[in-house]
Amino acid sequence: MAKETHTVAPAAEADDPAGSPATDRRQGAAKPKPGAATGSAPAAERKPRTTAPAPATDEPPRTAAPKPGTLADEPPATAKPKPGTPAVGTAADAPPRTAAPKPGTSADELPATAKPKPGTPAVGAGALLQLLRDGAPRTRSELAAVTGLARSTVTQRVDALLASGLIGPSGEAASTGGRPPTTFAFKPHARVVLAADLGATHARLAVTDLAGQVLAETRADLDIAAGPQTVLDWVIEHGHALLSEIDRDPSGLLGVGIGLPGPVEHSTGRAVNPPIMPGWDGFDVPHYVGEHFTAPVLVDNDVNIMALGEHFTHWPDAEHLLFVKAATGIGCGIISDGQVFRGAQGAAGDMGHIKVAEPGPVCRCGNTGCLEAVASGAAIAAALAEQDIKAHSALDVVELARAGSVPALRLLRQAGRDIGEVLAAAVNLLNPAVIVIGGSLALAGDHLLAGVREVIYQRSLPLATQHLRIVQSRTGERAGAVGAGVMAINHGLSPSRVDALLA
Ligand SMILES: [Zn+2]
Repeated sequence: MAKETHTVAPAAEADDPAGSPATDRRQGAAKPKPGAATGSAPAAERKPRTTAPAPATDEPPRTAAPKPGTLADEPPATAKPKPGTPAVGTAADAPPRTAAPKPGTSADELPATAKPKPGTPAVGAGALLQLLRDGAPRTRSELAAVTGLARSTVTQRVDALLASGLIGPSGEAASTGGRPPTTFAFKPHARVVLAADLGATHARLAVTDLAGQVLAETRADLDIAAGPQTVLDWVIEHGHALLSEIDRDPSGLLGVGIGLPGPVEHSTGRAVNPPIMPGWDGFDVPHYVGEHFTAPVLVDNDVNIMALGEHFTHWPDAEHLLFVKAATGIGCGIISDGQVFRGAQGAAGDMGHIKVAEPGPVCRCGNTGCLEAVASGAAIAAALAEQDIKAHSALDVVELARAGSVPALRLLRQAGRDIGEVLAAAVNLLNPAVIVIGGSLALAGDHLLAGVREVIYQRSLPLATQHLRIVQSRTGERAGAVGAGVMAINHGLSPSRVDALLA
């Protein structure tokens, strides 16, 4: 019942007023607020609407005013950012979420309107925290104004957040007469996360604060092929060491984020048939690492976390971004609506195995002409070796390019064009605002980027490239570790997690 009434509500907003007075008239003034759902005779309410629909369009003005009491309190509750909000694991990327709501459509919101009255708004402490995560100090009144919550409710929420240490008083706002109001701001140092970026042959581990600032870090030459136990034991041991290095108790850990150099099923944190990771297939990474930390463990592939790190650090306002990692292999992380887009099986963004050459060289995936088989660091090194130039790896290619080797520069430019071919199609499909080129090959200078730009601007539709920016990665080698941290932070600070934390 309650649900039905609710679903009708938003659409009825226009005719509701017209319907309301009618209801009042017929049923006598004794009836409670009409539009206000609650158990109060939904059937009676609906009747007038169907029997006398005409006035709806004719009499809108009259309605504007009815029962200010109810209307003033309620619409804000539904119009608000969002209550229990987002699916865990992603989300929490803050205020812009307002765009999503659509009152009345989300199951999350049903309780809000179906509920009694004023003091029970949808914006919990966790949702309030999202507003403060940008670091700007705000007063209680400002928070009340933005959320539509009653002052008393804001005070409750703020007190809960203060007690958790996630926010703190940050000074006083300018007084408008009388005592100046206190402002509150997010305290990124309240907790920390552990972030691991595990590559094919290198590992980087960092502890960051809740704003993604690296507080301590270490790195090592670590072969992922050594197997999950060896590699994850390193993460666990050095994770504890880093925490004690900065005097943090492991209990203050909000989460652990791990990036792996292969396909990952994000929902379970398991690697799936990773080509260069013997022993990792199906291994339960969150369980293994979780035995040693009391915080949730999240896992994703390296390209997704790099995209997240680059987005968080340099492009927080770009809702749609592609991050291309051009290194030994080639992959792409997709940020859509501010969040990592993973697709149905977590395989989205695997651009390295899209065909670009016909006939082309055999790829390690078994097909021929894959992008990775012609434009990756390994492919360029092989092409150089054919010309009797000593090169075995992507890093050799980078060194040659930096030393001015013309064949290396030519091949890099051509690799950029090949990557651009695939990206041009992606631009037409996804219309990103920013394309970031990262990975070790991007360190070789502008040649790769120039090739990418050349083809994208030539091949993509004008509307899609009108404001498109194609840039070099600025986060560099740290992108993966920062992104792994951001993944853990966004999960740990999601409204539902924060509410659970405070409960
Ligand atoms: Zn392939």
